[in-house]
Amino acid sequence: MPAVDLKDSCAALMRLFRVPRDPDLLRAQFDAFSKQIPLLYFILISNTLAVAYTYVNVAPDWLTMIVPSVLTLLAALRTFWWLRQRGLVRSDADILRNLRATNWMTLPIGAGFTAWSFALYPYGDPFAKSQVAFYMAVTVIGCIFSLMHLRSAALIVTLVVDVPYVLFFWATGEPTLKAIAVNNLLVSGAMVTVLFIYYRDFADLVASRKSLLAQQAATQALSDENFRLANLDSLTELPNRRRFFAELSSAFNNAEIRRARVAVGIIDLDGFKPINDNYGHSVGDRVLIEAGRRIREVCEGFWPQRVEFARLGGDEFGLVVCGDPEDADLARLGERIGEQVKLPYQLDTAHTGLSCSIGFALYPRSATTAEALYECADYSLYHAKRHLRGRTVIFSSELEAEIRSRGVIETLLRTADFDTELELVFQPIIDSMNEHTVGFEALARWQSPRLGWVSPADFIPAAERIGLIRPLTQALLVRALAAAKTWPDHTRLSFNLSAHDICSPDGILPLITIIEKSGVTPRRLDFEITETAVTFDFARAQQSIAALKAMGCGISLDDFGTGYSSLSHVHRLPLDKLKIDRSFVADINENPVSHKIIKSLTGLCDDMEISCVVEGVETRAQLDTLRRLGCDFLQGYYFAKPMPGAAIADHLARDRARLDAAQGAKDVA
Ligand code: C2E
Ligand code: CA
Ligand code: CA
Repeated sequence: MPAVDLKDSCAALMRLFRVPRDPDLLRAQFDAFSKQIPLLYFILISNTLAVAYTYVNVAPDWLTMIVPSVLTLLAALRTFWWLRQRGLVRSDADILRNLRATNWMTLPIGAGFTAWSFALYPYGDPFAKSQVAFYMAVTVIGCIFSLMHLRSAALIVTLVVDVPYVLFFWATGEPTLKAIAVNNLLVSGAMVTVLFIYYRDFADLVASRKSLLAQQAATQALSDENFRLANLDSLTELPNRRRFFAELSSAFNNAEIRRARVAVGIIDLDGFKPINDNYGHSVGDRVLIEAGRRIREVCEGFWPQRVEFARLGGDEFGLVVCGDPEDADLARLGERIGEQVKLPYQLDTAHTGLSCSIGFALYPRSATTAEALYECADYSLYHAKRHLRGRTVIFSSELEAEIRSRGVIETLLRTADFDTELELVFQPIIDSMNEHTVGFEALARWQSPRLGWVSPADFIPAAERIGLIRPLTQALLVRALAAAKTWPDHTRLSFNLSAHDICSPDGILPLITIIEKSGVTPRRLDFEITETAVTFDFARAQQSIAALKAMGCGISLDDFGTGYSSLSHVHRLPLDKLKIDRSFVADINENPVSHKIIKSLTGLCDDMEISCVVEGVETRAQLDTLRRLGCDFLQGYYFAKPMPGAAIADHLARDRARLDAAQGAKDVA
């Protein structure tokens, strides 16, 4: 046999008597072994005492009393030690050390018991001598069995006991004892075979459990990662909408149990859309990430309440405020977020002018379920966007009443008879130079049998929400054109369109058909479209506007200055008129900012060579200022309130007479 093979074989042989190094196998061995050890010592001691008992008075006392007592005491101490190991948390090194010690301890213990047995043997009669042989055989088999999980120790015991055993009893020449020795050898051999098989299975089991655990850990890690990703917004890396609603539901349940307050907040960025439209999506994305980071910082530093923050989608973010917040806390939080969002953004482009509106709702004051609470916060946000842009609104009883009336309006509008309940009134549009009426803006009125007069500011948005705006617009346009047909040929009609009319795929076609059928030339028509409607879906709005333009209709951009569309929209649309919102007119003589805005807007209209219409003129002083600023057309209560169709003929007659008189005076002069 080559030397290397011999060396390998010797090493393999030695390994059989050594404790393995695999930490998982060691741990499993230690666990199993600590359970068997009391059994092992029980076999050892009870067998020993039985033999010692037989030899009392026959053999010397140190053999029958002292040695068994010492051995019993040692065995009891070891058993006690092992029993204490259960449930202790141990390091791998500690376990290895203990098992190694146990392994090598089997050598002196096995040898000790063997020597003791042989020492007793000469004192016994043949029965007692057979008992020693029986004792040793049974004990060694019992030990092999109990040491099953620590193969090295079982092998050491087998060798240390069985080799001397067979030699010793063979040497006695006694046939019975020789037979017992051979018998024991065979059984031990069988036991060792079983031991090898069992130990291999045990080691395999540990290894497969290890790989199973590793697999489980990998699966767990994967599912943890999936969970994390499923709850994370990929752009801002903030918690996402799904996470937000889970957080809201658990915070709500908590608050219910503890009878504490909890609030929901929804943040919407003001002025984000134009950034996205004008500077591109990558700039928009960076602004969103930065705004999200700033808001998160405010939330994390907010005290004493805990604030959960998530991106709900688009430029909308959500807040859950736990820890019994009060209105003042919400206002404070809203203010801090607003301050941070307003700070300039480091972009390669110009100033972004971003701000944010926030709606809050507080449990238990405003709602009894998490969903209802969210709805209330959403309504507060809607209210902020419409009336208090850039501010924080907390859901209140007034808003609740508003929602209720919104619901009532929606319900009644669904069953309203457009023919009998809807009407149009017409407000003159005046040429600022000669104060002559050049046209009328048609304004809708709804007289509900239940609610009385409902403002278009309320029922138009309601019709948009419930999907009734398009039939409503069509019904109104038919009537407006019928009225315009009776007016002098040069008198124009202005008609308001909603976002849904110009942004739905086939919204504009029925209107074109109505115009064609009306017999009114499209050249007399102006369609008023708000900035917000245009931003809703710019591409589609552009198509609808182009279709109306192609017929010869005029297009006016309504409520200019209040929306958040940018000047680029104005440049990209084929506009004829720009209608400056009446909010700037109200304080034009008191507020230098309003004065400046109107001045720059009229300048813009000049540059673009389009007309400018100013609405909401209520006083002579306003009129004078607007004239100085070069506004082309005016509209407002100072000239006339919206009037029924039937009053138009009279109005025009008076207008004509005034114009003639003025002309006459001029001629005389
Ligand atoms: P708008 O298009 O800006 O209409 C002008 C609003 O200002 C009208 O309110 C008009 O009555 C009011 N107004 C005119 N002159 C003055 C003034 O000197 N002072 C004050 N304080 N207000 C003045 P109205 O009729 O209540 O309509 C409100 C809004 O409802 C309209 O604002 C328009 O956006 C919408 N609307 C009205 N009729 C229709 C319609 O047929 N279709 C659509 N889609 N929207 C409509
Ligand atoms: Ca209008
Ligand atoms: Ca307007």
